[in-house]
Amino acid sequence: MSVEKPVIIAGAGIAGLSLARLLQDNGIPVIIFEKSVSDRSQGHGITARDWAFGPLLREVGNGCSEEDFQHAVAVDRGVGGRGFADLSFRDNSTGEMLFNPEAHAEGHNSGLFRANRSFLRDWLAKGVDVKYEHEVKSVEGGPGLVRVSLQSGIQYEGSILVGADGVHSTVRNLVLPHIQPEILPVVLFHGKVHMSRAKYDSFVRTSLGPSNVAAGVGDNFNTFLTVASAGNDDVHLDWSYSRARQGDGDPLWMPDRAEVIKVPQHLLKELRSRDMAPPFSTMVNADAIKRDRVYNWRARTVTVPPADLDAAARRGVVLVGDAAHAMPIFGGEGGNHALLDGVELFRHFRDAWNTQNGVLQASSIEALIQAFNKDAGPRGREAVQRCTRNFSRFHQPIDSWKKVAVMANRKAGAGA
Ligand SMILES: Cc1cc2nc3c(=O)[nH]c(=O)nc-3n(C[C@H](O)[C@H](O)[C@H](O)COP(=O)(O)OP(=O)(O)OC[C@H]3O[C@@H](n4cnc5c(N)ncnc54)[C@H](O)[C@@H]3O)c2cc1C
Repeated sequence: MSVEKPVIIAGAGIAGLSLARLLQDNGIPVIIFEKSVSDRSQGHGITARDWAFGPLLREVGNGCSEEDFQHAVAVDRGVGGRGFADLSFRDNSTGEMLFNPEAHAEGHNSGLFRANRSFLRDWLAKGVDVKYEHEVKSVEGGPGLVRVSLQSGIQYEGSILVGADGVHSTVRNLVLPHIQPEILPVVLFHGKVHMSRAKYDSFVRTSLGPSNVAAGVGDNFNTFLTVASAGNDDVHLDWSYSRARQGDGDPLWMPDRAEVIKVPQHLLKELRSRDMAPPFSTMVNADAIKRDRVYNWRARTVTVPPADLDAAARRGVVLVGDAAHAMPIFGGEGGNHALLDGVELFRHFRDAWNTQNGVLQASSIEALIQAFNKDAGPRGREAVQRCTRNFSRFHQPIDSWKKVAVMANRKAGAGA
């Protein structure tokens, strides 16, 4: 079967957009559907790593340098910044640095920076015709000819369907309904703070320094502070507080209310009992947040075994990003793997397209999906395991943290 039919992508998140951008730049037909509206904000920061954005920049062409890219998508682009991130773990009760697993000085090429997810999405979407408010509802057919129906009832035909529709992936539910997210036994609240630049400089930057992120570890709990976007006049920040679930009667364990809620009284009580110093006490502060609304987050993971990915390939479907491998958001790498998935799937597609002069047989489409799954699948599955392990360590006693710090600092000293 000859295929000039487009690649159909469900989901204009990081994975879907990086794939769409590269296909489009290389003249390979693509249609990308996004169920939400075009101006939706997902303005939080993520730690972008060069093993993911490096390959993307090499494929994007036009000589986009790492520096230009950082200036375009960094959380502090509003003040000309490049998203400097000091990922040191700090003691929540003193604010002091315990150890830094990835030390580097501001301004040095560290291999990582803080990107704003909305800025990144907008950068990736440049020149891509995203069909917003188009929700994928069903898929039929197989490699070479997939028929995708939208919520509106309209049908599209494509050569392949890429499920880039996130942790709750509709595409995955359609082809692999037995694969469901696993909810980790962790209580995790997330809030937003908006303050003037002057206030930020006086109350947060004094203890946070030039970093756009601060990771605090406490006695069986942790807090993260992150700059979402910074300008000359104001700064938007996010905070989070997490700990392990405490038995069946834990009043803050509310997995069926994973939504924005009024701050629970139990959370305020718990925060008041915690020992915290600036910058953590400035933002994760019961008095400061008592009238706010907070997001009650469910920490979820998704892993898809190789045999299931192959079964999806036989239906002309490939899963990328969180749809294939969702990991905890803190200490996680989900955004980076989503980006890299987009680049790697593009390369498989481009190679097949070029060798077959743009006329792909159904068998070569299935083969390219399988080749992608063979390369990218283990990387994603290992990352889910590693990040889940790391995330559970975040909630260990402070004495254990101090031992980890001693060992890490000794190792760093020996290596220096
Ligand atoms: C607070 C926070 C902090 C994070 N920090 C980091 C970090 O530091 N480092 C890191 O690497 N990762 C981080 N992540 C994780 C990262 O954001 C995700 O792993 C990444 O966004 C996944 O990209 P994706 O493209 O697979 O999915 P998504 O970004 O979730 O995109 C999926 C898209 O599909 C759309 N969609 C869903 N269903 C349909 C449908 N049926 N039809 C059409 N469209 C559909 C959705 O609306 C969405 O736009 C963080 C996440 C959060 C929330």
